[in-house]
Amino acid sequence: MKNLALHWKILIGMALGVVFALVMTNFDFGKEFIKDWIKPFGTIFINSLKLIAIPLILAALIKGVSDLKDISKLSKMGGRTIVIYIITTVIAVSIGLVLVNIIKPGNSISDKTRTELVEGYSNNTAKYKEEASKQKESGPLQALIDLVPQNIFSAATSNRNMLQVIFFAVFFGIGLILIPEEKGKTVKSFFDGLNEVILKMVDLIMLAAPYGVFALLAALVAESPSVDLFKALAWYALTVILGLALMILIYNILVFIFTKKSPSFFMKAISPAQLLAFSTSSSAATLPVTMERVTEHIGVEEEVASFVLPIGATINMDGTSLYQAVAAVFIAQAFGMDLSFGTQLGIIATATLASIGSAAVPGAGMVMLVGVLGYAGIPEAGLALIFAVDRPLDMCRTVVNVTGDASVSMLVASSVGKLGTPKQKNWDDNYEA
Ligand code: ASP
Repeated sequence: MKNLALHWKILIGMALGVVFALVMTNFDFGKEFIKDWIKPFGTIFINSLKLIAIPLILAALIKGVSDLKDISKLSKMGGRTIVIYIITTVIAVSIGLVLVNIIKPGNSISDKTRTELVEGYSNNTAKYKEEASKQKESGPLQALIDLVPQNIFSAATSNRNMLQVIFFAVFFGIGLILIPEEKGKTVKSFFDGLNEVILKMVDLIMLAAPYGVFALLAALVAESPSVDLFKALAWYALTVILGLALMILIYNILVFIFTKKSPSFFMKAISPAQLLAFSTSSSAATLPVTMERVTEHIGVEEEVASFVLPIGATINMDGTSLYQAVAAVFIAQAFGMDLSFGTQLGIIATATLASIGSAAVPGAGMVMLVGVLGYAGIPEAGLALIFAVDRPLDMCRTVVNVTGDASVSMLVASSVGKLGTPKQKNWDDNYEA
């Protein structure tokens, strides 16, 4: 077991978690037992990952930006990052739209199932609508205003404010480049050291990953709704999953064309982050691991990874945007609506923006879906239709979100000559503390 690669250990943990929950739910006390005695360990595991997200961004980004030594390099890298992120998101939404129009999963929903689902889940959707309406009230430049915090300490108190922390870190890093090297030496070496400490903490947390995912998956299975609901939504779920799988293929092709790294190398290196994304449904919680995999196991230099990945975790969500496009059209189909070509083109724009605005936490994509539905005039009550399968799809789309960020970091790194050889081999995971 000791020499088994990390992704195998995590996979075994996940499988055992599912089996354990399936066995336990046969007993009367099973669900309660998992809730009280197993789930907390999953929560502790996710919390420990989230715990280091903000310090990691601060340390890595300040170190990364100040390592660049030249502001023009930063703007070059920043420009490329944003452009590639937007391109991959538009590709994702388009794939979603094409698939949902070909497969037409909404047509397979009978009126009876539709009414049942809408009635059964209407309470749950109220919460999402309320959250979304809060976001709707703001003006067009609100996103820009939100980028600049009034107080870095209060911004750093919530993982939802990652973009504000990124803004501060980049700004601070620029300041550090502009002062004489002699004066900035101590500050820089402080952040260099802090960065090392935090990466070590990621290693330590990863030692617990197989146990953490066991607890997470056991809790998920014990709390999941009945299988019948899954069956009714099978075509919809398959359409989303097919689209997500195509995205993974596209990333591999892009990585191969632009960096000459083989798909097996890329997938092996990034798989622990993908498995964690699947288990936690949160790109933010996965960020420390994505960062570690990309730098240590793929060879993206830290100054690129520490800039591209945190931004990607917050704004680049290809899986989420693809899902939002499929979900919107699926709901329209289920309600017997015909969406014009123009409206569908508009969905590309709104889903791209909605995915940028989605927080990197479980279920965020569904909140922002309300905006896409509103734009296309699709009844918001339709959210209730997709509620039952949202969590498993959230797990899958988070894998794509994380894989997308990792591949873009490779593309950007290779375009600025910062993709080197990895420090660690993938088949020989060095996670011993
Ligand atoms: N859970 C996703 C993420 O963190 C966001 C979403 O689609 O709900 O990447």
